[in-house]
Amino acid sequence: MRQSKLFTKTKKEAPTDEVSKNAELLIRGGFINKEMAGVYSYLPLGLRVLKNIENIIREEVNAIGGQEIVMTALQNPELWKKTDRFDDEKVDIWFKTKLKNDTELGLGFTHEEPLTNIMKNYISSYRDLPCFVYQFQTKFRNETRAKSGIMRTREFVMKDLYSFSRDEHEHNEFYEKAKIAYKNIFKRVGIGHLTYLTFASGGSFSKFSHEFQTISSTGEDTIYINEENNIAINKEVFTDEIKKDLGLGDNFKETKAVEVGNIFTLGTRFSDVLDLKYQTETGESRPVFMGSYGIGPGRLMGTVVEALSDDKGIIWPESIAPFKVHLLSLSDNEDVKKEANFVYDALIKENIEVLFDDRNDLSPGEKFADADLLGIPFRLVISSRSMKEKGIEIKKRNEEKGKIVSLDELINILKTVS
Ligand code: ATP
Ligand code: MG
Repeated sequence: MRQSKLFTKTKKEAPTDEVSKNAELLIRGGFINKEMAGVYSYLPLGLRVLKNIENIIREEVNAIGGQEIVMTALQNPELWKKTDRFDDEKVDIWFKTKLKNDTELGLGFTHEEPLTNIMKNYISSYRDLPCFVYQFQTKFRNETRAKSGIMRTREFVMKDLYSFSRDEHEHNEFYEKAKIAYKNIFKRVGIGHLTYLTFASGGSFSKFSHEFQTISSTGEDTIYINEENNIAINKEVFTDEIKKDLGLGDNFKETKAVEVGNIFTLGTRFSDVLDLKYQTETGESRPVFMGSYGIGPGRLMGTVVEALSDDKGIIWPESIAPFKVHLLSLSDNEDVKKEANFVYDALIKENIEVLFDDRNDLSPGEKFADADLLGIPFRLVISSRSMKEKGIEIKKRNEEKGKIVSLDELINILKTVS
């Protein structure tokens, strides 16, 4: 894509009403637009990152048998009254709205109830189980704290996955697969080295739930990391008894972290009340055993920015970067422009994703500053100097110095790294 055609522009100044680094950098880079506190739109560059993250999640969830659907934001209160979750005294994050005849509706903050209700149409026998259903869908939550940029918003897309199993044993098998899929996701997104499987409080059906917590000074959670076992415990359940229970010894490091995902055993909490049952092989009627598994792609994107940036801007991992390559034409000299256009066409032909800074009337310093802010993994420079040296300068965003290579070498480098 030609940067001269991109409708968004970068900003030098940080927005005055943002305290978080992710919001500051993403707004300055033109990735997102703030509509109001805790509400952000995704612009072309931001949407490309978000979709890359979603696709990684989709691949990993499909690989463990997930089937994708999309449910509605508008919710029927009758269903939620059955599980005692419509009352604002019980759930204090609802956004609610009304039909013209004054009937109250909810805007979904999660989707256990409606999906359990859908599955009643399709699950009746042990032969229908297990099954795994997920979506990328907009949640509404009336969060009180919304100061963490896109890491805590009042409207956000969540990947929510739900499992339906015959019994606890079958459920546990999938639960373990989900853990591995989640680990793969966070690794592929580029924060695997900072993310810990974390024991957190459970519910009536299991002692623990599991969160995936990424170390970050801006995180709202406190976790205790046990490096030997590559595992952590959330402060909310960190007791001597639990440490002993888990056999993790006594070597823990306290740190702030962001919950990027969580997995939860629901048991029969929803299937009992909403009457989701199946017949066993021997004709017995049993409630379906459920689990839920959430990830916020937006929160994940914000966490990556918090974790992987420097004082000049963002450093996107290649797997989720808006483009692989940022090609800078450094002067308005006709020969340089011609060469830059030639390289741009050659990269496009090789199916390499390029943002081409073909803008006129900008100094090299301004173009370099924008490239650092946008954080695209490879920066290519065409200038009078690179032309004199008969090549193209290539530099990684996280490296200090670049080198001059030929077009063939360049394509080789870009095609072999991934
Ligand atoms: P938190 O304790 O941070 O509020 P939660 O326990 O409410 O999280 P879940 O309901 O389990 O979160 O949601 C699943 C995932 O959705 C979270 O792990 C997180 O990645 C994401 N998420 C939750 N709330 C928000 C939010 N307000 N904005 C953006 N992403 C969110
Ligand atoms: Mg919450």
